[in-house]
This record gives sequence, C-alpha cells and structure tokens, in this order.
Amino acid sequence: MRGLLPYAVILAAVLVLPFVANDYWAVIGARAAVYWVLVAGLNLVVGYGGQLAIGWVALLTLGSYTAAILVARFDLSPFLAYGAGGVVGALAGVVVGLPALRLRTFYFAMTTLGFATIVTQVALSWQSVTGGGIGLPGPSLEAPFDSPWGFYLLTMGFAAVVTWMTANVASSRWGRSLVAIRDAEVAAEATGISKARLLTIVFLFAGFTAGVAGGLFGTLQSYITPDAFTFDLSVTFFIAILIGGRGSILGPLLGNVLLTLLPEFAAPLVAWSTFLYATLLLAIVLLMPGGIAAVLDFRNRKPLESHRSIVPRPDRVAALVDHGPVRDDIILRNVVLAFGGVRAIDGLDITIKAGAVHGLIGPNGSGKTTTLNVISGYYEPQEGEAFLGTRVLPHGKPQARSAMGIARTFQTPRVIGEASVLQNVMIGATIDGRASFMESALTLPRHRSDEKRLTARAMDALAVVGLESLAPVRADRLQHSELRFVEIARALCGRPAFLLLDEPAAGLSTDEITRLGSLIKAVAAAGTGVLLVEHHADLIFDICDQVTVLNLGKELAAGTPAEIRSHKEVVSAYLGA
Ligand code: ADP
Ligand code: MG
Repeated sequence: MRGLLPYAVILAAVLVLPFVANDYWAVIGARAAVYWVLVAGLNLVVGYGGQLAIGWVALLTLGSYTAAILVARFDLSPFLAYGAGGVVGALAGVVVGLPALRLRTFYFAMTTLGFATIVTQVALSWQSVTGGGIGLPGPSLEAPFDSPWGFYLLTMGFAAVVTWMTANVASSRWGRSLVAIRDAEVAAEATGISKARLLTIVFLFAGFTAGVAGGLFGTLQSYITPDAFTFDLSVTFFIAILIGGRGSILGPLLGNVLLTLLPEFAAPLVAWSTFLYATLLLAIVLLMPGGIAAVLDFRNRKPLESHRSIVPRPDRVAALVDHGPVRDDIILRNVVLAFGGVRAIDGLDITIKAGAVHGLIGPNGSGKTTTLNVISGYYEPQEGEAFLGTRVLPHGKPQARSAMGIARTFQTPRVIGEASVLQNVMIGATIDGRASFMESALTLPRHRSDEKRLTARAMDALAVVGLESLAPVRADRLQHSELRFVEIARALCGRPAFLLLDEPAAGLSTDEITRLGSLIKAVAAAGTGVLLVEHHADLIFDICDQVTVLNLGKELAAGTPAEIRSHKEVVSAYLGA
C-alpha cells in the first residue's frame, strides 16, 4: 500500500492543476499525458524487457495518421478512430518488434529507427491520403473535451488507465518474465518462458498504446504534418525510460514529466535541446545509475544482517513438491556431442531414476555440464537420443523442458539481480500461471488467484531452502552461497519431476554442504529424481544412489557409491587414493 502514495500525490497534483494554472498549462499537461500513454507501453519493452526500441515514434506516427485520416476522410467518430490507431499501432508494433528475436541490442535499435524513417517518408510522399508535407487536421472532439482543460482531463484519464494496466502487468508473471529474459535469458528459458511468445504479446500491447497516443497527439496538435514526428521525439521517449530507471513504472513516469517540462523552462535553449538531453542523460547515468527509481528505492538501502546462515527445512520438501507418483526415468542412449574436434560427450548411456539421486562426477572438462545441457535441451546430440520414459526429449527447445517436469540450476547462478528473491523464485512457476496477459493487465480474478497461489508456493520453496527472511531483498545483495539456494528454490517452485543440479556445493561452507546434502536427499525422497554434478566426493558418496564417473566424455565407471569407491581406475585417476 505504501507504494501507492507517490501515485496518490501525482493524482492530487493532476486534479489541482486546473484550479491554479492557466490554459497554457492544460496543453503542457495534456502533452505529458499523451506522451506517457506511449511511454508507459514502451516501458514494458525497454525498461522491463530490455529491448532497445529507439524508433518507437513510428507507431505514434502511424496511429496519428490512421486516426486523422479516418476522421477527416471517413467521418469516423474520434474515439473509434483512436481505437483504430491503436490497432494499427499494435500490428506495426509486432512488425517492428519481431526482429528483436534475432537481432541483439544495437542492431535491433537500428531496425526500429529504420522503420521510423520509412513511416515518415511514406507520410510525406503518399500525398493523396496523408496530405504530404501540408498534412491534415487531427481529430477534433466535441464538448466537454474541446476545451483545453476538458482535453487535459481526458488525456489524464487515458494516462491513468495505462499506468494502472502496466503496473498490473509489471507485478504479474508477465512482468517477471520480461525482466527474466532481460537479465537471465537462459534461466528464463529453462523455466519454460517462451521469449518469442512473450515479446510478441508485449509488442502488441506497446504498439497499441503508442497508436492510441498517436490519435490523441493529432487532437493535441490539431494539425499533423510529417515533421511533427521527429527523431528527437523518439529519443525523448527512450530517454524518459532510461532516466526513470529500468524495471520501474514510477521512475519513467517522472522521467516523462521531466522531459516534457524541460523544453518549457529551457525555451531559449531550444536549439540546444539535443545537447541538453545528452548532458542530462550522461549526468544521470554517472550520478544515479539506477535512474530515478533507484533513488526512490528506500527499502533496499536498509542494511542486511551480516551473519546470516542458511538453514534449509528438508521436512517441508514433500509438501512443496507434491506431485503424484513419478513414473518415467531420464535415459540417455549412446549420446555423442562434439564441439569442433572436441568430443565433449562420447557415446554416453545413463539412466537417471525417478526418485533417486544420481551423481555425475569427473575431472574438469569431462563433459558433465554438457550432459546436463543435452538433457535440458540446449544442445542437440549428434548421435543418440535423450528420453523421458519412452518420449524423446525434443532438441533445441529448452523452454519445453519445464512442462515435462525437468528443472535445473546452473554452474554459475543465473538470477535476476534487480528483482527480489521472492520474484526470482516465482519465475520458477511461471508456466503454472493461468491468467492471460490482458487478464493480468486488468487484474481479473484468474490473475489474482495466480498471484496468490504462486506467491504462497514461492514462499514455501524459500522456506524449504531456508531463505524466507530474504524474500523481499534484491537478489544482487545476496552472497554467492545464498544465490545457489535461491536457484534451487526457483527450480523446486516448478515442482519438477527431475532436478538437475550443476555443482550446487561449489563455494559453500562445510556446514552448508551437509545441509544441502540433507535437502537433496529429501527432494529425492519426495519422488523427484536428482542429477547431481559435483566435485565434492564426500557429498556424492553420502547421498547418491547411483554414481557415473566421466572421463573425456566417456563413462569411466558406474555403480553404487561403494562400488565407485573401490573402483581401481577411478581411485587412481580421479579420487587420488
Ligand atoms: P565439465 O562440466 O565436466 O567441466 P563441460 O561439459 O563443460 O565439462 O565441457 C566438456 C568439454 O567440452 C570441454 O573440453 C569443454 O572445453 C568443451 N565445451 C563445452 N562447451 C563448449 C562449447 N559451447 N563450445 C566448445 N567447446 C565446449
Ligand atoms: Mg561443468
């Protein structure tokens, strides 16, 4: 509830302004609101999803022309025309956005800019429809919205709605997934998040708000020409998000207000505006790297307890995991995978039994992580297959593993530093959410029940690994050993049938390793099969039911811990007697 206070203050300011300011401020206020309708949607793309869409003005242009043309030439009602602008914006949003699935960062940024240039050129040359350089009138509204303050209140209404919707999205599994693909893409895939699907939905939404903003922009300007949609404007939208801080709604909102007001105070400096923005941006990047949002984030400045110990609760695993009797084993049959000349796995057969702990040991570079990557779908074996029971595990589809009940952790923990520990763990259960994007945006009942259920389950998972007290803390404030347990909690939150652990004991203290061992045993006892890649021989021999020893991608030995311990070659080559 405390999070609502800044919004209440802003709302009060919006409502008081008409009583204390002249009409000039109505226009400036409306401009800030119209820009925000676009920036709020774009914020999901840029601030949450981390996609550098700099040319988003293209969608404002398209929405603006669509609405203006429909009103001027077809006599459509302005509000329907705004909606039509939104639809065109949404479709174009997907077209501009989709290259993001293939192109990284700057290359994607350039395609969005290219699109913006094309749209402006078309608006210029297609004179019969757009009026070319002369332009055409924007949609004009009837009373009560034809007065400056009437239009001001209308646009503020639109702004309030998009603020509410994007805030809802941000705090839903959709928002968490966006941040996950931004900061930990590989881990996001492993939890079943499909980047293509997610980004398509978000581009549709952000395109829609940009298109609607375009329609409103036409009314605001009362007349539109191609040169109203400048590159500067596009950069302004983008910078509003950067100085606001990524992963925040309030920050970019304030950034947008700031950048709308700035030209008013710096009118004599208009020729310098690009320079001013650049300086402002530089100052903000240097002085407050997290943007306005980080400055306002008081909660994460409270110091944490310095001597924290992780005390897992193995007794609570069974209640959390709680899947029916597990059925199929994971089976690798004659798997071969070479990187160039290196045969990382060379004809490997392994059966990982449901409900048991299977240890995988071997010297560095013997192919342990590669084996795990084959099972979790990152690598496609050149020969042989991996099965779950009788089903072949599909290649090249790590995002399909989660639905098959396979979860994993990483040799180097991959968590979202800027998200809370709780949010990180909730990522693990993303595919168990039922609400669609729009249901979440509108906080419909299914969204609310999702959040309740997933939050409760993530808290259970945190209790199991012994980190409940850190739930609200930003993950980048945790120690390395704690991050390992956060990853395990994230994996368990999806209630997997199989848990693949890549060196979970690396960097843990002796006590922590012992506790980790009891936890892993409890996970297997609850019916979840565990593949444990480890270096700590004690841990392996203490808790494994079966052990496979790898050397140069081949099985050197396999058997029970007792058999491995007395295996001559293993002892001499690896354990060192
Ligand atoms: P381990 O986890 O047992 O230490 P890995 O499975 O990471 O070993 O690596 C096995 C071998 O495959 C090593 O020789 C490593 O250099 C090579 N390897 C692993 N991944 C790649 C890759 N993506 N490209 C090229 N070589 C790789
Ligand atoms: Mg490894």
